[in-house]
Amino acid sequence: MPIQELPPTLIDQIAAGEVVERPASVVKELVENALDAGATRIEIVTAGGGKALIRVSDDGCGIPEDELALALRRHCTSKMAGGLDAIATLGFRGEALPSIGSVAHLTLRSRVKGAPAHEMVVEGGRMSGPRPTALGGGTMIEVRDLFQAVPARLKFLKSERAEAQAVTEVVRRIALAFPHVRFELAGEDRAETVLAAVDTSDRIARAAAVIGADFAENALPLDAEREGIRLTGWAGLPSFHRGTAAHQYAYVNGRPVRDRQILSAIRGAYGDLMVKDRHPVCVLFLDVDPRDVDVNVHPAKSDVRFRDPALVRGLVVGAIRRLMLDQGLRGSTEGAD
Ligand code: ADP
Ligand code: MG
Repeated sequence: MPIQELPPTLIDQIAAGEVVERPASVVKELVENALDAGATRIEIVTAGGGKALIRVSDDGCGIPEDELALALRRHCTSKMAGGLDAIATLGFRGEALPSIGSVAHLTLRSRVKGAPAHEMVVEGGRMSGPRPTALGGGTMIEVRDLFQAVPARLKFLKSERAEAQAVTEVVRRIALAFPHVRFELAGEDRAETVLAAVDTSDRIARAAAVIGADFAENALPLDAEREGIRLTGWAGLPSFHRGTAAHQYAYVNGRPVRDRQILSAIRGAYGDLMVKDRHPVCVLFLDVDPRDVDVNVHPAKSDVRFRDPALVRGLVVGAIRRLMLDQGLRGSTEGAD
């Protein structure tokens, strides 16, 4: 067969393979979009673990009627003003909505202040609209029958219960970094979770709502800085441990990240203060100049690459160690410098 350019729907489906792994990845992308739109209330509804339905509604800025079709087009974004070195939003690739639209039935409703609401529908990769609709304000995106058209992917999903759990986890993780935003997670497949908005100065209240009320009494506040990188958050006491590392939350410029180096730095910092096979609980907010970190490592944007990883490691290890030493806790751990 001669070389041919792939049709756009197929290109989107291929990209979706990396952006949209499971219902939780759809929720993550939609919630990120709501946060980028300045929402203060985000409501997430799922059915069938998110396989049958995901609906995310926000009170953000909305999308103007003449931009609705663009929002669903690949490589179209309103967030790339200053290049990859200056990313201040959670999104920037202009990929999520077209990717989701290529593997599900998607309805987008939006309304900007002072204008009527409109909707777009994507089904089988075909887009229709905009047409007038009803919506109080902000944006609502509904995703139905995820992966119905991609049986290979559907097969790899876990039980509805496990997928619902992953959705909850994604929402909690991101909510921890946005305490001023109210999150409501509901659906026939879950108990309702409401994270009420708290004042940004009361960030620990949100952390406690996500991790557990006893975290606040068992954690020490972090505040350290090294060469322009700031570390805030809380380090749990070594006595407050868990069976997995799932309760180690790391954020880079507000973005939840799963970074092996940060996790390893946490391990190094606690060293043998931690009981064998147990894991500390901590929340680390790293604020760095966008030029010192590359967030464009993977389409899911959960991996980052620091310009100076050793500096970040030293900062995390040093700050946690110092806190523990201040508590009179001494183990044979990696030393602070
Ligand atoms: P990205 O977030 O990388 O820009 P997306 O495909 O997720 O790409 O979204 C495309 C565009 O659609 C965004 O740049 C934004 O302008 C618009 N958009 C998507 N979701 C929302 C929302 N909830 N509120 C306002 N605008 C949105
Ligand atoms: Mg996005």
